[in-house]
Amino acid sequence: MARVKNRKQDVIVVGTGPAGATAALEMVRKGRKVLMIETGRDDPVGRGLFHTFHNLYDKHLIFSRSKEGILIDRALTLGGSSAVFSGNAFRPTASFQSDIGMDLEDMVEETIEELNLAPFPDTFMEGWNGTRQIVEAASALNIDLKPQLKFIDPTRCNPKCDSCMSGCAINARWTARDYVRKAMAWPGGADLVMETTVEQVFSDDSGKAVGVIVKGKGTPDKLFADTVILAAGGMSTPVILQKSGVDAAGKAFFMDPMDVAVGFTQEPGPWRAMTFTHACEDFVESDKFLIGNVKGSGAWLSQLLRGKTFFNNVLRFKSKGLYALGMFTKVADETQGRIYANGKISKSMTAEDEKHMARGDELCREILLKAGCIPHTISVSRLIGGHPGGTAAMGGVVDDNLEVKGLPHCYVCDTSVFPRSPGVPPVLTLIAMVKKWARTLYEYP
Ligand SMILES: Cc1cc2nc3c(=O)[nH]c(=O)nc-3n(C[C@H](O)[C@H](O)[C@H](O)COP(=O)(O)OP(=O)(O)OC[C@H]3O[C@@H](n4cnc5c(N)ncnc54)[C@H](O)[C@@H]3O)c2cc1C
Repeated sequence: MARVKNRKQDVIVVGTGPAGATAALEMVRKGRKVLMIETGRDDPVGRGLFHTFHNLYDKHLIFSRSKEGILIDRALTLGGSSAVFSGNAFRPTASFQSDIGMDLEDMVEETIEELNLAPFPDTFMEGWNGTRQIVEAASALNIDLKPQLKFIDPTRCNPKCDSCMSGCAINARWTARDYVRKAMAWPGGADLVMETTVEQVFSDDSGKAVGVIVKGKGTPDKLFADTVILAAGGMSTPVILQKSGVDAAGKAFFMDPMDVAVGFTQEPGPWRAMTFTHACEDFVESDKFLIGNVKGSGAWLSQLLRGKTFFNNVLRFKSKGLYALGMFTKVADETQGRIYANGKISKSMTAEDEKHMARGDELCREILLKAGCIPHTISVSRLIGGHPGGTAAMGGVVDDNLEVKGLPHCYVCDTSVFPRSPGVPPVLTLIAMVKKWARTLYEYP
């Protein structure tokens, strides 16, 4: 970790998630002197569920929660939520690229090649009876659950592990920490301060951003730079912006709510599986939902997060002769939500969101039944989201160059700038977008 003196940087990057880490790496490659500022720590990953929830996730075991009751998970640690993500890589849809006015295909292909993104090999399926059963049941219903590209090196991954969301202990999965380390290792490259929270961007008399005000141990209160890049994620960037006088930030918000279904079968197992290896994207454009597989025990655990599904399920997992199968529906929700300057969240489901979710949940139920689940054992745990964004959208809060309107020299490059949910998990889209933007960015002299 760098000792920060009161000196001026070329670029300050706030946040080290996929967006911030990519921006920092691109900027050092352009020869800029970069300082990355991260509120979290370099916590060890892969130390088990309790350690991860306690140390890496926001809100320490309780999740962030909108005042209407929707749970939202994110990690506040070096690498942001990529330290705990499932490692799924989805190509951005053509309509999303059109909506953001960027053709990302070249950067998507570059990233796939650079990080060797690929689906797991078929040999992994040998131990995954549960997944095979679900894929075959879906196929019998004409639903194509396809193997997904993964940010995971299959030669290192243990197919029996399925602990991606508590951090990969064997480092088989890419995280933004890899880009952070590359940016720091670059000759004359980036510095990093952790456990330092950016409160607001400040400007000079002409109104242009000249630095950030921070709270952190051993750091001056003000850090100066020619350019400030905000990448604190869809829930923190709007807070920083509002505190910096950008009132338009935080007035729209999506987070891709997800329902998780579990069902139990009496067919002999083992029902081993890994979560989210397969998904059907056929409904993303038409009905705004994505469905995929969840490891049975994970789907069962999700039921315990909600009172309604807790009691029916708490004793079931250990019941003799019952085996769990799981699926999810993830909806591209409308941007009807809000992040306030104090960090509080308002988010509810619109009638359209509920309609799309119900359609996806019904398909999951049909697949679980076809896979042999006993009808009365199927239950659905509702509404956890993990893809916050839309809170500093292009066209509204930032311009086409991702510069904050009314705050020159300050840019936003995280999921906040997405004008709507991309409909699929966003990390590949985000990396491609930041690369494209950073390489064509006009910078002030
Ligand atoms: C459990 C889970 C599973 C997921 N699985 C997938 C998946 O399989 N595929 C996929 O594409 N996406 C997945 N996602 C979503 C994906 O991880 C996020 O969309 C992505 O990380 C967003 O990147 P970001 O850089 O915009 O923000 P973040 O990853 O949120 O990074 C923001 C960073 O800023 C830091 N920060 C916040 N506030 C401040 C502040 N005031 N000062 C300084 N630093 C600050 C945070 O600590 C963090 O490091 C998953 C998310 C979760 C939670």
